[in-house]
Amino acid sequence: MNSQAVPVNSLLRHVAPLREALAQAAAGVIGSGYFVLGPAVAKFEVDFAAYCGVGHAVGVANGTDALEIALKSVGVGAGDPVLVAANAAMYGTSAVLACGARPVFVDVLEGEATLDPDGVAAKLASEAAVKAVVVTHLYGRLAHADRIVALCRARGVAVVEDCAQAHGARDAAGRRAGSFGDVAAFSFYPTKNLGALGDGGAVVSNDAAIAGRARQFRQYGWSGKYVNALPGGRNSRLDEIQAAMLSVMLPHLDAWNARRRAIANRYGAEISTPALELPPQAGDESVAHLYVVRSNRRDEVRQALATAGIQTDVHYPFPDHRQPCHGGRFDAVSLPVTERDAARVLTLPCFPEMTDDEVTRVIHACRPL
Ligand SMILES: *Cc1c(COP(=O)(O)O)cnc(C)c1O
Repeated sequence: MNSQAVPVNSLLRHVAPLREALAQAAAGVIGSGYFVLGPAVAKFEVDFAAYCGVGHAVGVANGTDALEIALKSVGVGAGDPVLVAANAAMYGTSAVLACGARPVFVDVLEGEATLDPDGVAAKLASEAAVKAVVVTHLYGRLAHADRIVALCRARGVAVVEDCAQAHGARDAAGRRAGSFGDVAAFSFYPTKNLGALGDGGAVVSNDAAIAGRARQFRQYGWSGKYVNALPGGRNSRLDEIQAAMLSVMLPHLDAWNARRRAIANRYGAEISTPALELPPQAGDESVAHLYVVRSNRRDEVRQALATAGIQTDVHYPFPDHRQPCHGGRFDAVSLPVTERDAARVLTLPCFPEMTDDEVTRVIHACRPL
């Protein structure tokens, strides 16, 4: 190889143009004397809620906590059945388990990897007392939230969106990820479309009561200082430095998403080989968080790309219901699409700072496959 490998991501390149602005914002926090839940968090919450087109945002410590707190805020508690996909690296499932609730797995749509609305309808009919559905907008593409929300509203079941890979994705009416369900969870882990320089997350909602409960859950269940009113309270706060970093980055999010989409759509237009099944082209409904192809010869393809200097990854290799932590509790569960995908998905490099030349190199490396 005469040139460096194409990485799957580069956070160093991502933050390089913002270095000065980030350093200044961090210095501002250091000089303010507020370090946890102060003015920087309050400002980011207002701006992020406006960006998502919702009434309220509540900063929390990470995306998994955001999911757990979102679930608790809509009343999910011990033993409650919660519908969840099994193809998203245990994030939703872990949050359901952290509530003491019971994950009920639903298969995903072939080629889309988001919850199958018919599967949701079938489970809502067959499982008694489902409390909530976690709808994950996986890989940056909006799930079929409208259909699932309609099914759930009719039965009084809450919809919790997992938007950790979908910051800014919009439907044809301009509605953003996080504004479809009752409540939504975001992660600001550094590799997300909007990422901090450490951990961070947010719960967003149009419902003031739900957002108010999320605010209580993130801080010990307090109704006021030292009054632990809500059972199940946590410590899961967003800190001032991360909020300040996020406020520097938020104005760039749409441009970053547009660049991701352009890369994904070049792949879609220029990669053509029987070895790879490509995802649909990306419109506004996708923010191209991950460019995931499918192959029956996944491991062989991965090796060939590595030899050609192209890094790849697998999101995700192990379905939730097959994870060892359950001790075999879900062994009888069968999710054909989820299980087949786990053996076939492969992620190609797609991040905003990729050069056109790197994109071309990935496309060329796919030709002989
Ligand atoms: C990253 C991610 C999460 C969890 O976020 P953390 O901040 O890492 O806890 C949840 N759901 C999805 C779909 C994710 O990609």
